[in-house]
Amino acid sequence: MASQTAESAFAGPCNLLGKSPEELRAFLESLGEPAYRGAQIYHALYAERRFDFEGMTNLPAKLRERLARGAAIELPRIIRKHCSDDGTIRYVLALDAVAQDSAAKDSEKTSRSLTPATIETVFMPEENRQTICVSTQAGCAVDCHFCLTATLGLIRNLSAGEIIGQVLIALEENRAALKPQTNVVLMGQGEPLLNFEPVMAALRILLDPNGMAISPKHVTLSTSGIVPGIERLAKEKVRPKLAISLNASSNAQRDEIMPINRKYPIEALLEACRDYPLRPWEHLTFEYVLLGGFNDSPDDARRVVKLLANLRAKVNLIPWNPGDLPYAKPDPARIEAFRRILADKDVRAFVRYSRGQDVMAACGQLALMEIGAATSNLTQISQH
Ligand code: SAH
Ligand code: SF4
Repeated sequence: MASQTAESAFAGPCNLLGKSPEELRAFLESLGEPAYRGAQIYHALYAERRFDFEGMTNLPAKLRERLARGAAIELPRIIRKHCSDDGTIRYVLALDAVAQDSAAKDSEKTSRSLTPATIETVFMPEENRQTICVSTQAGCAVDCHFCLTATLGLIRNLSAGEIIGQVLIALEENRAALKPQTNVVLMGQGEPLLNFEPVMAALRILLDPNGMAISPKHVTLSTSGIVPGIERLAKEKVRPKLAISLNASSNAQRDEIMPINRKYPIEALLEACRDYPLRPWEHLTFEYVLLGGFNDSPDDARRVVKLLANLRAKVNLIPWNPGDLPYAKPDPARIEAFRRILADKDVRAFVRYSRGQDVMAACGQLALMEIGAATSNLTQISQH
């Protein structure tokens, strides 16, 4: 009887990646196995990063064989790897046409669509840590005019497994050179708060001390300012740090480059920010992409100071990374003048030059530059 239950539960291989401890326990129970086997698989997957059942030696051999036949651990496939002169690696990953995330309740319709997709993940090694930038959607519907990802439109939402899989694959690929600290930023393709449930399911695994055990201080979600999403995130028990892409100093200016501002204007956005329950160690980060001659004047800087008054916040000034779009890089002297105006008014501000520009891995440059060239073979393209 137990084995009959097991076989029916194995109708098609079930991808275990992205499942919560509860879901894994329930899955194992559905096979007639003790629930704690689910917890053991969770530990093997995320704490030990084992991706084949054979290597899960904490499981009995018979169960490992059964799982190998009927379940799967499907990491995204690397189809290209671009290595920058500064050490940054941009991975182009193929996502198969499989629905795999039972946690995708509210966005089920799109995230369960069977479209195959190609996305990008960026690995940035530093002296004492690595930062991994992951995508949360293939493409993006938000349509910021300065961002290359916007030109793709929304292709589809990613599942929790596809989001966590990007972190796992980047760590796995660089296993020999890993530094003690891993930072994860949800700043690749897509608007994380428009794919809320799968993003949260992936974050819960990332931040779980029994899972990937990354500190919430080292995980940042960046949003274009989806107010209901910020309000929803505020109520979550497990949360990353929050970054908001402000990118303009007035509604008129923001309307011009971020049409989402017409739906969630600056006042509503900042109100949600003021209501956001910061933990004692936490601050909000405001990203401000500097577009040469458009939003980088001293008057803009003074308006930003006013907007951010009374918020526990810092500002990351990101000089625009060029793509085939009608904007200009800001002048270095204006960048510094802008930063100084903020700093003089006690608004902490840092200039963040994006890494990996030579391989189109920088902020806003992720847009599948090799559509059509993608094959299932791993090709390494190096700048050297
Ligand atoms: N969709 C989310 C997260 C991904 S974009 C968001 O918009 O916040 C991550 C950051 O890259 C955002 O702050 C965005 O404003 C910035 N960005 C987009 N295009 C850029 C470009 N061409 N140069 C520099 N930064 C860019
Ligand atoms: Fe989407 Fe962010 Fe690019 Fe805007 S900046 S189009 S929200 S990825």
